[in-house]
Order: sequence, then structure tokens, then C-alpha cells
Amino acid sequence: MSKLIIVPTPIGNFGDMSRRAIEAIGSCDIVLCEDTRVCSRLLRHFKLDKKMIVCRDDNERSRIPKIIDAIRGGKVVCLTCDAGTPAISDPGFGIVRACRKCGIAVEVIPGPCAIPTALCASGLPSDGFLFLGFLPSRTSARVKTFQRYADFDHSMIFYESCHRILKFLGDLRAVMGENRVVCIARELTKLHETFHVGEVGHVCGAVAAEGAKGEYVAIVAPKRFKL
Ligand code: SAM
Repeated sequence: MSKLIIVPTPIGNFGDMSRRAIEAIGSCDIVLCEDTRVCSRLLRHFKLDKKMIVCRDDNERSRIPKIIDAIRGGKVVCLTCDAGTPAISDPGFGIVRACRKCGIAVEVIPGPCAIPTALCASGLPSDGFLFLGFLPSRTSARVKTFQRYADFDHSMIFYESCHRILKFLGDLRAVMGENRVVCIARELTKLHETFHVGEVGHVCGAVAAEGAKGEYVAIVAPKRFKL
């Protein structure tokens, strides 16, 4: 049956590619990917060879009609991204939405995603959480977001780059105070996977001392939470 299949890919460790994910790509007609070099590396690793169509943030909209036509014409299309779950701070939302609007079947395979990977290992409250993705790069906009959510009563999860993680922590400390508990998860599932859990004043120093490198997830605990 023709359909769109959402296929998460590893966030750092190829061992995390599920059997269902490999089988889905193996038997589909087209793989949507952000970067053919990244996708080819993954396909080669699993001895797969498929037609790829590039679907990035900047061209996703214009690709939608072609993808819808292909599925309506009987094709099975796998939606992937460079790493992790498509449509989570990555391309895919527009395609999934268009498929739903057109009555096209959408299947999803659960798999790697930096949000639950960091949260479940953090030791911070995980009964409810708010995912806020990447914050704006301007300090004033970042500070505004921290002010808005300072009293939010669940954990808050952010994606951050190595270039901005120290600024992120500095602004967080200024707004929420140095006793706010945070978890900084770095390079999840990779060789240099690291967790720093503690009060932001302390964690800021630890992240600076190791030199900000790699990919980061930041989790901010609610004010009531103490270690
Ligand atoms: N779709 C992806 C997912 O499911 O997690 C997220 C893609 S987003 C463009 C990339 C951001 O996710 C990185 O900047 C980082 O904040 C986070 N991330 C992805 N892989 C990670 C990893 N292995 N360790 C820590 N953070 C990671």
C-alpha cells in the first residue's frame, strides 16, 4: 500500500537503527533526506541502495506536490532527517501535514530522538515536560523566553549548539538564579557522551572547563525541584 513512513535515524550510534527502520527503507521506493551524503553513509552501512530526494527546511514546501503525486501514484516514501526523528526541530512537518490533508496513510516507526534520550537519563522530573527547541540567538529574545517560563511547573527541554551553550547557561543563571537545577547532556549515544546535572552556577563552570564541543540538550528543572 502506498504511504508515507516516518523513519527516525540514529543520533550518533548506528547500532540504534531499528530493524523496522532498516526494513522500511529496504522496501520503500523513495527516501526523503536532508543531505544525500549523510543519508548515503547510513544506507551504505546497512547495505541499502535507494532513490533519494533532498528535503530540507528551505525546499520542503516546494517538494510537497511532487511527493504527494508519487505516493498517489503508488509509491512508498520514507521520510528521514540527518539524525533523530523527522519533524522534531527538523524538516518533515509540512510533508506530514500535507499527507494528512490529502488522506494519505502516514505510518510512524518510533526511534532515536535527543529529547527523551536526555530526559530519561537526567534524573530531573519526567512526569511532564515542555520542549522548546532552539531558542533565538539574540540575548534579549532568549532572556524573554526564560522570564516567561521561569515559574513553569515542569521540566523544560531545549536544543543548543556548542557555540551558544555557555551563553544559554549564562542567561539562564541571570534570569532563574544560580540554584536552578539543570542537566546538560552532550554527545548522546556517542563516544564522548557526558551529563552534567546540578545547580546552574556549578554546571556552567563544568561545561566551560571541558570546552564546549559537540551537540547539547539542556533540561531545566522546575523551581520547586532540589537535588
Ligand atoms: N530531529 C532531531 C531529534 O530527533 O532529536 C533533532 C535535530 S536538531 C536539528 C539537532 C539538535 O538536536 C542538536 O543541535 C542538539 O541540540 C540535539 N541533538 C541531536 N543529536 C544529539 C546528540 N547526539 N547529543 C546531544 N544533542 C543532540
